Amino acid sequence: MTHCPARGSKQVPHAGEGFTMPFGLSLGQTLPEQDERALATKHNAALAHMLPLWGPLFGATVVLFTLWDFWIMPARIALTAPLRLALVLIGSIAYRQWRLPWTPVHRAGFIYATHASGMVAGAALLPNGLLIGLAAITATLFLVSLVALRLSTFVLIVLPSTLLLIVLGLGTMSPYGLINTIVLYLFAAGIAAAMMAVLVAFRRQAFLFEKQLLHSARHDSLSGAANRGYLNEAGAREVALARRHKRPLALAMIDIDHFKRVNDIYGHVAGDNVIRELANVCRHNLREGDLFGRFGGEEFVCVMPETEADQAFACVERIRRSIEALRLDTGRGPLQFTISTGIAVLGPGRDQWESLLQEADDALYQAKGGGRNRTQVAGAQPHDQAAP
Ligand code: GH3
Ligand code: MG
Ligand code: MG
Repeated sequence: MTHCPARGSKQVPHAGEGFTMPFGLSLGQTLPEQDERALATKHNAALAHMLPLWGPLFGATVVLFTLWDFWIMPARIALTAPLRLALVLIGSIAYRQWRLPWTPVHRAGFIYATHASGMVAGAALLPNGLLIGLAAITATLFLVSLVALRLSTFVLIVLPSTLLLIVLGLGTMSPYGLINTIVLYLFAAGIAAAMMAVLVAFRRQAFLFEKQLLHSARHDSLSGAANRGYLNEAGAREVALARRHKRPLALAMIDIDHFKRVNDIYGHVAGDNVIRELANVCRHNLREGDLFGRFGGEEFVCVMPETEADQAFACVERIRRSIEALRLDTGRGPLQFTISTGIAVLGPGRDQWESLLQEADDALYQAKGGGRNRTQVAGAQPHDQAAP
């Protein structure tokens, strides 16, 4: 999990050439690889949820078409009914996962291939069956639009029943009827594939919106750091993980020194720039797995998993020295500022998110009392710390 938003968080692709969707994403335009994978995972989860209901419904429909067979030619149902039933039964294996290494898309594809083949084979046994049953056979193609995320998957899923249609059509239809059937079938397949492409574009768009919305809900717009709510949620999770696996974890609470004066002397715009700069310097010095959030106005919290007190101290000192060396341009002359930090590490009596925050806050208070522009580790002697 990457908490630091500075590293590759905005992945909204630019609209490319071609037909553009209403929200700015081009038809056929893919998302970054990681997002495509996440989208496929989400799609598979939705399919896994739907298959136990929609699979049997599709199967029952195929078997119920025996009534249609009976209406066309009663004598033939002795052949069509067992054939439809057999293919549906084979496909019904995929109604459930059965601890087999197949994805829900594979399962849906298998269900479609067997069930649609049942429809084609059943119709082919009736006089002119393929021609008069073509409407129902082509209608099922649109089910694949809901399942496939790529054209290659779409083609693979419809291939078995399509080939069966052509082979049985060759054996039972006149050339005129066969050409008619194939042209109509391919026309419907083309529309179903186009529908799949539009649906996928909408899915990608919805995915991006959800991701952006989630990002906005979790991050502070000024600094880009995690906001208080997400910081508490993700921080508590990191602490619980470290506690369970008996791994070290350090928490640093950073506060800008005399920030009120910065606002008073240089104005609020300069104050905002100071907050942004501090956030940039912190992100630059933290690791990818660290959590960085804005705790309050000019207070930030860094949660550093797998980090002992001395490593956290070294990291925070790097940040402190970088900040100290910064000169920001303002309309009212160059601006220099400093930070004070309190560090707490996971240990007996401080193994909860709240208690760690409290320890770090107490250490921060000590750092302020010690003269500011310094780092204080909770429980350590102040003279152990690097002074300005
Ligand atoms: P200390 O060294 O003891 O921390 O003193 P301080 O002045 O930094 O602390 P104090 O809590 O007195 O003041 C914090 C100030 O931060 C007050 C508030 O106006 C300002 N502030 C909070 N959020 C923002 C912000 O988003 N932008 C700007 N420009 N100022 C902010
Ligand atoms: Mg302050
Ligand atoms: Mg403060």
